[in-house]
Amino acid sequence: MTRYSAWSVFWNGLRGQRGWDRAWRDPEPKPAYDVVIVGGGLHGLATAYYLASNHGITNVAVLEKGWLGGGNGGRNTTIVRSNYMLPGNRRFYEHSLELWENLSHDLNYNVMFSQRSHITLLHSPAARDAAARRYNTMRLTDSDGELWSLDELKRTVPHLNYAPGARFPIIAATVQRRAGTARHDAVAWGYARAADQRGVDIIQNCEVTGVHRDGARVTGLETTRGTIRGAKIGFAVAGNTSRLWRMAELGTLPIETHKLQAFVTEPLKPLLDQVVVFGVAGAHFYISQSDKGGMVFGGDLDWYKSYAQRGNLPPVQDCAECAISILPCLGRVRLLRHWSGVMDMSMDGSFFMCRTPLQNLYLNAGWNYGGFKASPASGWYFADLIANERPDPVIENHDLRRFERGINIDERGAGPDPKLHG
Ligand SMILES: Cc1cc2nc3c(=O)[nH]c(=O)nc-3n(C[C@H](O)[C@H](O)[C@H](O)COP(=O)(O)OP(=O)(O)OC[C@H]3O[C@@H](n4cnc5c(N)ncnc54)[C@H](O)[C@@H]3O)c2cc1C
Repeated sequence: MTRYSAWSVFWNGLRGQRGWDRAWRDPEPKPAYDVVIVGGGLHGLATAYYLASNHGITNVAVLEKGWLGGGNGGRNTTIVRSNYMLPGNRRFYEHSLELWENLSHDLNYNVMFSQRSHITLLHSPAARDAAARRYNTMRLTDSDGELWSLDELKRTVPHLNYAPGARFPIIAATVQRRAGTARHDAVAWGYARAADQRGVDIIQNCEVTGVHRDGARVTGLETTRGTIRGAKIGFAVAGNTSRLWRMAELGTLPIETHKLQAFVTEPLKPLLDQVVVFGVAGAHFYISQSDKGGMVFGGDLDWYKSYAQRGNLPPVQDCAECAISILPCLGRVRLLRHWSGVMDMSMDGSFFMCRTPLQNLYLNAGWNYGGFKASPASGWYFADLIANERPDPVIENHDLRRFERGINIDERGAGPDPKLHG
């Protein structure tokens, strides 16, 4: 397979672009594999890659019902950060950010990771104190984090709404400089190509429609391309987790599926060189500018449960209002597109990565709306769990029984209501 480099771009330019190979094969499914991962999103593809690269397990299939990156992986606002505070999240997301920092080299694929800073606006002394605690915790655990004064913020992002009469005046900001954005479909394609190079079969248009069991083991998966057996099976299907769980006759999960929308405007000249987050009094809004110039933004969930990958109009209004309140200069910009994904929202806002009641079935779920940044570490630790059949200490509390043990990993402090965990 062609190794991507400046030289290969130059050489193929001279030869009329005739020397490129397919990025990954399109194999027919085999009857059986050592590991079958259901879900060709970022988490499923990353798991397959790390199974092969970290553990030497290459007889692996990734089954995807549609096309790679057609789920949340290709629908998100691509914010990558590690400003988590609680044990169970802190080390996991920091490791993920470290993996992002070398991902393009590791995969030999430019995922366009841009460490452009993540700025959270603060609007009250109480919010500033809480944020200082979070960012100090990050600094004490070898991450980066800064608390900026209003003057510093004005110097860096002069066109935010600093009007003294604003409904929620900005008083300060927290900043993580190593945070930023990446190109979502490049991440899917990069992991797919690198996994394929190591022998993984990536099988698109292959929907799992049933789970065969023999007592406490999964014996095979019924798919639209025939029955496929796996010695070990991993579910990484994001908002569809409860559907797969039901197919395995495992009852209910502490997960609800909700919808989240994102938006992009017509392209503008360079305007915003950071990710900016605005959250106060029920408003929740995050915005950045894509490399093509579009302003990319999103807000809260649609507030009702659904498996449909389409949104509704009230969040459009909410997001437009938030956009204008922090960046009034966007007032006459036209919205180009908006779309929705399906989020697997958990009761405490944190993920599940664990063994299940079935001996050879493993679960990767509950990413709420923060799973893009988690993709590398999710693949890393899920591959480790499947290969070694025990959780690494970093993820040991992310099991389905944590609530019975009194462990809530509730970063937002929102309580057991999935729709409140942003
Ligand atoms: C609008 C929006 C904005 C977001 N913004 C951010 C952000 O800025 N930062 C961040 O960190 N996170 C963000 N997220 C969250 C992030 O996108 C998700 O948490 C993450 O992508 C989920 O993991 P995934 O990529 O594996 O999921 P997906 O890409 O959804 O992968 C799951 C795959 O499973 C497949 N599948 C489902 N059922 C079956 C079946 N029966 N058989 C075979 N295949 C099946 C689906 O087709 C899908 O491709 C956002 C999400 C949305 C929707």
